[in-house]
Amino acid sequence: MAELIIMPKLGFNMSEGKLIKWYKRQGDAVRKGEPLFAIETDKTGIDIEATRDGIVLGQYIEEGDSVPVTSPIAIVGEKDENISSLEAEIISGKKEKQSNLDNNDTVSSGKQDVNSDGVGAFDYDIIVIGGGPGGYVAAIKGAQQGKKVALIEKKALGGTCLNVGCIPTKTLMKSAEMLKAVKESSEFGVKTEGLHSVSLDMEMVQRRKSGIVEQLVGGVQGLLRANGVTLLEGEAVLMDSHAVQVQGTTITGEFVILANGSKPKTLPIKIHDEARVLSSEEMLNLTEIPNTVAVIGGGVIGIEFAYFLASVGAKVTVIEFLDSILPMVDEEITRLVMKDLSDMGIEFHLSSQVIEIGKNDVTFQKQGDTEKVESDMVLMAVGRVAALDGLDCHKLGIETVRGAVKTDERLCTTLKNVYAIGDINGKSMLAHTASMEGIIAVENICGKASTMRYDRVPSAIYIQPEVASVGLTEKEAMEKYGQVKVGKFPLLANGKAKVEGDERGLIKVIVDAKYGEIVGVHMYAVHATDMISEATLAMNLESTAEEVAMSIHPHPTVSEAIHEAMHGAHDRMIHFLG
Ligand SMILES: Cc1cc2nc3c(=O)[nH]c(=O)nc-3n(C[C@H](O)[C@H](O)[C@H](O)COP(=O)(O)OP(=O)(O)OC[C@H]3O[C@@H](n4cnc5c(N)ncnc54)[C@H](O)[C@@H]3O)c2cc1C
Repeated sequence: MAELIIMPKLGFNMSEGKLIKWYKRQGDAVRKGEPLFAIETDKTGIDIEATRDGIVLGQYIEEGDSVPVTSPIAIVGEKDENISSLEAEIISGKKEKQSNLDNNDTVSSGKQDVNSDGVGAFDYDIIVIGGGPGGYVAAIKGAQQGKKVALIEKKALGGTCLNVGCIPTKTLMKSAEMLKAVKESSEFGVKTEGLHSVSLDMEMVQRRKSGIVEQLVGGVQGLLRANGVTLLEGEAVLMDSHAVQVQGTTITGEFVILANGSKPKTLPIKIHDEARVLSSEEMLNLTEIPNTVAVIGGGVIGIEFAYFLASVGAKVTVIEFLDSILPMVDEEITRLVMKDLSDMGIEFHLSSQVIEIGKNDVTFQKQGDTEKVESDMVLMAVGRVAALDGLDCHKLGIETVRGAVKTDERLCTTLKNVYAIGDINGKSMLAHTASMEGIIAVENICGKASTMRYDRVPSAIYIQPEVASVGLTEKEAMEKYGQVKVGKFPLLANGKAKVEGDERGLIKVIVDAKYGEIVGVHMYAVHATDMISEATLAMNLESTAEEVAMSIHPHPTVSEAIHEAMHGAHDRMIHFLG
């Protein structure tokens, strides 16, 4: 379908732009990414690129003309495509604007439909449902682009991530790390005479966690206010592509962004004592450590809790349906992680299906046998599912796929003007994915054709050492490319890891054999979650391992291990005979 190219809004204060040069003329062929025309604002000059392959079918602005943001500039489509309806829209838009100007109306930035009395056709340009890391980032981004934005939240700003997910779990993990550090401090020369036993004060751990959450949630509220986002409290119900009901009132928006998040899944099995089966959210509020815990599910959430509970003295058993824990992680790294977790005393039952949770045990089937494991408490960590409650997808014409809202690469749903970001679209249930999807949805709303690259979303697991990865595993890369080169550097050969007192782990870099382009990076190392961004950036820039190997890394740092693995993937490592 032909695409209308409009004057983009490049900054908060930009109201118009000047077209200074056409690179293509009507009838010319153009490729996606090729410059179409250049514009100039009072602050900057920029080339606007074609967002698709095609033919320039229409040009509506002359060189030297200045036009308001969102004004039509060109149409790109297929050869001989009928663009009469798009052109009619352009003409009627021009007429409407002229009549508004005749009435001395001021057209608010980003708002195209304005009535003659100066009141917008919609209450808001964008309504965002849900204030998690997807929704609040989208709202701030929208406001920064000059849009009038309302954000509706029914519970707590910050969503799962800030309140019952990423941040609270990481405060628990940090307490476990501190406990380990104190226990092992004599190895660092710390005199621990008189220190008979160390343990966590869970009440204090909980107070610290709540304090951090409170500060961050307050920070989000401040940012939304400072950016001029209207905050509405209550449960939002989408009525149609422009109307949202909240607290008995209907508000309208030109665009709606669904960012409702997700909720925990549970197993359809017999549970004898619901009180001792906790979700991750309930587990976060523990004030006493149980003696024995069965963790059902060996994904990221299950493994982080298993690590925490084992670190603070619980006997933990992980029961996983698949034949491996952490299925998204490179197999070689998973084997190392499982060995270290087993050394901590965590017991694993893989390829095991839980069939019943008794009063003090969990029954599962493993390779045809029925087995039981005793447990005071059970963590149900079998994944999460999109929160579609109250959203009548069928009636609204919103298609779903595997229980989540279906979106295209621009985050559009099948209902016009409605976008879905974050966990609700089920594509990659991570906070940073949700936030980036929020930015991409807003960019599309503002006329910039921007797409999400799910193959470059990093993931992180906060056990010690940390696990982080981006891109393909070695197995996936082999399946895709047939031939790959792999660079591997063990942390035991890294000076800083020795200084840190944890030289376990490995950095693994996978490149395609033909061009040397990095296609996957996997880390099991201290500080891995902070270091993975280097790999993500390199992959975003389509770098080769040689290019990263030729970038100087400071000494002594753990990041030198990445440097070495890049050397290994390209040629030979310097500090290891691999
Ligand atoms: C224990 C745990 C640990 C995690 N750790 C990490 C981690 O370390 N790193 C990471 O990247 N991800 C982590 N995640 C996942 C991460 O929390 C989610 O991917 C992220 O929060 C999704 O963001 P979102 O904006 O899509 O949804 P959410 O954060 O779930 O926010 C959705 C918001 O919408 C609101 N809402 C829903 N429906 C309505 C409605 N009808 N009207 C008004 N408001 C509504 C909800 O109240 C909620 O506040 C973790 C998750 C859990 C459970």
